[in-house]
Amino acid sequence: MSIMVAIAGAAGRMGREVVRAVLEADGLQLAAAVDRHEIGADAGALAGRGPAGIVIGGDLGAALARSRTDVLVDFTLPDGVLGNLRIALAHGVSPVVGTTGLSAENLAEIDRAAKEKGIGAFVAPNFAIGAVLMMQFAAQAAKYMPDVEIIELHHEKKVDSPSGTALLTAQKIGEARRAASVSPVPSPQGLVEKAPGARGARNEVTGDVPIHSVRLPGFVAHQEVIFGGIGQILTLRHDSLDRRSFMPGVIIAIHKVRALNGLVIGLEHLLD
Ligand code: NAD
Repeated sequence: MSIMVAIAGAAGRMGREVVRAVLEADGLQLAAAVDRHEIGADAGALAGRGPAGIVIGGDLGAALARSRTDVLVDFTLPDGVLGNLRIALAHGVSPVVGTTGLSAENLAEIDRAAKEKGIGAFVAPNFAIGAVLMMQFAAQAAKYMPDVEIIELHHEKKVDSPSGTALLTAQKIGEARRAASVSPVPSPQGLVEKAPGARGARNEVTGDVPIHSVRLPGFVAHQEVIFGGIGQILTLRHDSLDRRSFMPGVIIAIHKVRALNGLVIGLEHLLD
């Protein structure tokens, strides 16, 4: 039997790509589509695939109550995602989430709610396999080259910064450094930051890994992890050149999320 998939953010850049991918995938069926825009439009036609017979609605709760949805894919925006996930979980629908910007408390709430319902939930800051490998290679390199900074580059319409991928990369580098008992060289005394933020952003997640965010037209989603050593530089770079790069990961997550118990974060946990 096909897995019935609802898509939140179906009129957005990623949402339209997911609509196309679901319509083209074996074993998946589009059950519902919601957005704040393009309400009343056919989701398939809007995604450039021809009419799919699923009209974009503005009320997720009503759409889930009406359809026999198994999985909700959410590519919306940081201000709407948590509300959508609460609605999905209340309906016993497993969420697959690409929207970035969920806090640690939000993720803990999703995990609790999914476990209470006895269902799976999945969040990936990056669904591109190349980006997942970049994070794994970065954690490996950090054991031997603990001095590292991240530059992430995205299109100018991305609302949150730094990117979820950059934060997760920094977190994994921190864990690898701690496991290997290595640390970066201390900064010199009396540093002068003539423009605040020039040396990159840090918070409780990034620890001692500065992140620099670039937002410019022309970019899709890119990241460089730069390791410095005496007399040598190692640069890991990943480029998502097209939003199709995320779709194989999204399809894997749709197939596997219902076998999970509670929340799983990161595509690496779903790969064989
Ligand atoms: P977008 O602005 O093109 O699309 C977002 C869509 O969501 C819009 O059509 C908007 O109307 C709709 N929306 C907003 N709030 C909503 C709500 N509460 N319910 C239903 N629809 C709602 O943005 P985008 O470029 O498609 O990116 C969407 C999200 O996906 C962002 O958070 C982005 O960072 C993230 N993203 C994640 C990955 C990944 O691999 N995890 C990859 C690319 C983008």
